[in-house]
Amino acid sequence: VIRCRAAVAWAVGKPLSVEEVEVAPPKAGEVRVKIVATGICHTDEHLLEGCFPNVDFPVIPGHEGAGIVESVGEGVTSVKPGDKVIPLCLPQCGECSFCLNPESNYCLKSHVSVPQNLLPDKTSRFTCKGKQIHHFLWVSTFAEYTVIPEYAVAKIDAAAPLDKVCLLGCGFPTGYGAAINPAKVKPGSTCAVFGVGGVGLSVVMGCKAAGASRIIAVDINKDKFAKAKELGATDCISPHDFKKPIQEVLTEMTGHGVDYSFEVIGHAHTMTAALASCNMNTGVCVMVGELASGSVISLDPMLLLSGRTWKGTLLGGWKMRDCIPKLVSSYLEKKFNSDVLITHTLPIAKVNEGFELLRAGK
Ligand code: NAD
Ligand code: ZN
Ligand code: ZN
Repeated sequence: VIRCRAAVAWAVGKPLSVEEVEVAPPKAGEVRVKIVATGICHTDEHLLEGCFPNVDFPVIPGHEGAGIVESVGEGVTSVKPGDKVIPLCLPQCGECSFCLNPESNYCLKSHVSVPQNLLPDKTSRFTCKGKQIHHFLWVSTFAEYTVIPEYAVAKIDAAAPLDKVCLLGCGFPTGYGAAINPAKVKPGSTCAVFGVGGVGLSVVMGCKAAGASRIIAVDINKDKFAKAKELGATDCISPHDFKKPIQEVLTEMTGHGVDYSFEVIGHAHTMTAALASCNMNTGVCVMVGELASGSVISLDPMLLLSGRTWKGTLLGGWKMRDCIPKLVSSYLEKKFNSDVLITHTLPIAKVNEGFELLRAGK
């Protein structure tokens, strides 16, 4: 058993509390990882807000980390102590019918199908003050040591800087992949990205890499525009600057709407606005932002009847164990610069300050 620090969420709506926790050794098929760095994704904030009713508290959040294998359980063959790894919040078991389908990245062992609040054997490896603490998405990267099923761990290049490539655990591949995989942005096309936080900026990078000629960033926080432009946005607009709905503004700016639109915020009204912003016949809209589970979106069916395609994505469509190590190699070859997404670096003791910065749009 390892004693270390972790940021524990004891209840919905409460700040995280940095505690000493005990982390049990990995059982068969599990890996214990020393987490070196973790990002904060808005999905962790959704968790603290109580948007996931099937997640039990107390829980250790965090799902965008990188670390080093400390020990492995019986039967683990794909990683060994000392290997650098990225924990995968979307696993790839390699055996289920979805993993065997080349078109799918949704492993049937993913958290949407199987509650991942405990490890697969329905027990937790974390205790604190004598209480069992739940896991989050089987990765819980807000702990200095965490235990993860082998099929939710990807071995990466030993040269990778863990304080940078931790972003390849969620935010960057989600956004970048949304443009490349589900949307399949074509060269010369026009794109609109609703919300240019960490994930939305990664969508901008993906659209640019795919050769889009016009990329319109839409955000209510104009402080986000400088970075969006640096990464390839050609226009930046705030819905607050217009009297008419933003979908009408975008349709006028482009003639008949954009070829591809992306919702990267997580509100019902921006999801329907993003859908209405793309070409009524050939447009493709990809939903990336998350709404509380059980939410309902109402829409005019004509929006789809005229031919538009509306899709969603988890983690940008990548088969995670196959693709994350390749993305790390591309990062090392400087094929993209995800470091631009890093705005602040804080010690774990200041994790709540990190969430304050996220809420303040910083
Ligand atoms: P973030 O907080 O960094 O960015 C959100 C951005 O949206 C901010 O820049 C904010 O100013 C902007 N915004 C808020 N309200 C707006 C409005 N009404 N109009 C225009 N812009 C508005 O968040 P993030 O970490 O980039 O995550 C974005 C969303 O993506 C979240 O909902 C998150 O849960 C989701 N997400 C989904 C996946 C997936 O696999 N589908 C993965 C990661 C994150
Ligand atoms: Zn995330
Ligand atoms: Zn699978």
